[in-house]
Amino acid sequence: MYNPSSLKAEEFINHEEIIDTLAYADANKDNLELIDQILEKAKERKGLNHREASVLLACDNKEKIEEMYQLAQQIKQDFYGNRIVMFAPLYLSNYCINGCVYCPYHISNKHIARKKLTQEEIKREVIALQDMGHKRLALEAGEDPKNNPIEYILECIKTIYSIKHKNGAIRRVNVNIAATTVEEYRMLKEVGIGTYILFQETYHKESYEKLHPYGPKSNYAYHTEAMDRAMEGGIDDVGLGVLFGLEMYRYEFAGLLMHAEHLEAAHGVGPHTISVPRIKRADDIDPTAFDNGIDDETFAKICALIRICVPYTGMIISTRESQAVREKVLKLGVSQISGASRTSVGGYCEEEPEEENSEQFDVSDKRTLDEVVKWLMEMGCIPSFCTACYREGRTGDRFMSLCKSGQIQNCCQPNALMTLKEYLMDYASEDTKKIGEALIQAELENIPKEKVKEICKENLEKIEQGIRDFRF
Ligand code: SAM
Repeated sequence: MYNPSSLKAEEFINHEEIIDTLAYADANKDNLELIDQILEKAKERKGLNHREASVLLACDNKEKIEEMYQLAQQIKQDFYGNRIVMFAPLYLSNYCINGCVYCPYHISNKHIARKKLTQEEIKREVIALQDMGHKRLALEAGEDPKNNPIEYILECIKTIYSIKHKNGAIRRVNVNIAATTVEEYRMLKEVGIGTYILFQETYHKESYEKLHPYGPKSNYAYHTEAMDRAMEGGIDDVGLGVLFGLEMYRYEFAGLLMHAEHLEAAHGVGPHTISVPRIKRADDIDPTAFDNGIDDETFAKICALIRICVPYTGMIISTRESQAVREKVLKLGVSQISGASRTSVGGYCEEEPEEENSEQFDVSDKRTLDEVVKWLMEMGCIPSFCTACYREGRTGDRFMSLCKSGQIQNCCQPNALMTLKEYLMDYASEDTKKIGEALIQAELENIPKEKVKEICKENLEKIEQGIRDFRF
């Protein structure tokens, strides 16, 4: 029944295979010989399958866990250097007809304020985001074919790309909207989206059906097969994720990796990103009502193992997590973080009065983008506002093969430095600017090719003179 290249949800995310995998992991969690073999394989940096990964997740030997962390850090460094890509979510509408029991946008929540941005309001939100320095957005919307039809989403994306305020621009719009049809995915592709992101929430079908009691999202197979339709529609950068806390994390972890293996087997390209959200308090949602919450240590282990198991897949962490947790997992493999996020509709322009709350969940990291950028640099990371890959056609398998060849360092490193320079020139505080200028000088030396380094230096000077948007 289990078949990674099948296009049927229950065959590529096969319950029996997950149960067998977990039993195999339990049986081998103290098998140090096998664990060493798996770690040796992981050192080849070609990833691990869901069975091998599940053994590592089950292992509670402190020394071995430390080895996993070391390896995750090493792989992170080798593939991503110390670059961290920055983004912000933009909530378009919280109208929703689903019944997701963990999300305050569920239709039976009658007291949350329902809002949908007009194109004028979007303009204001985007200008506020540009004025902070953001270049990359993740659009968020509830599922409601009447209030948020695809035409509305497409219009919003066009509006966002059209706004050029001072030196600002949103250069990559990723989209996190409900599962849809091949035809609508094709429309999203045509309008120029970056990644299509859809969280599975849980891979456990029975739990999924309980957690999504009604509405279009209640169809497990339709939701689980969404990425296949997105790829059929021409979107080859897709972002996976589960909402940790809904089901047993070991089940979810195996499912997540099986999903990645499926995309590789069926379409020849794995997921572009994996997100690792945990349930948060929200309007009428109490996270303690869910039995499967994971502690920070387990969360860190999951992040480290994702880095080891899918080295070419970016990993995203949002402001659901605190500064301390973010700091820990950044080292273990996270490659993208959001900064200064608002999870309310229209939240970048105006603070909402208490009685008009439209937030999706509470954010833990409430710092400004400048504070986040400065903090990253103080830890030796390079905040990158780069959006070059998809604009240069480096998506899907083209991105993956460049990544595998190691050549990506000659694009990503200079692009990170040039976009950071733009940020420093246009938006940074004096303190941040000082740290950033020194960081850029030091990091120029880490561009492997001399020729690329020279061009990068020239471009940095042109940015000083006011020219923008250089990229490799
Ligand atoms: N409506 C779309 C969908 O159903 O996929 C868009 C996604 S929704 C705006 C973004 C994500 O937020 C959801 O996929 C879910 O994983 C997450 N989310 C929902 N409620 C949450 C909560 N209480 N805490 C943390 N994350 C939550």
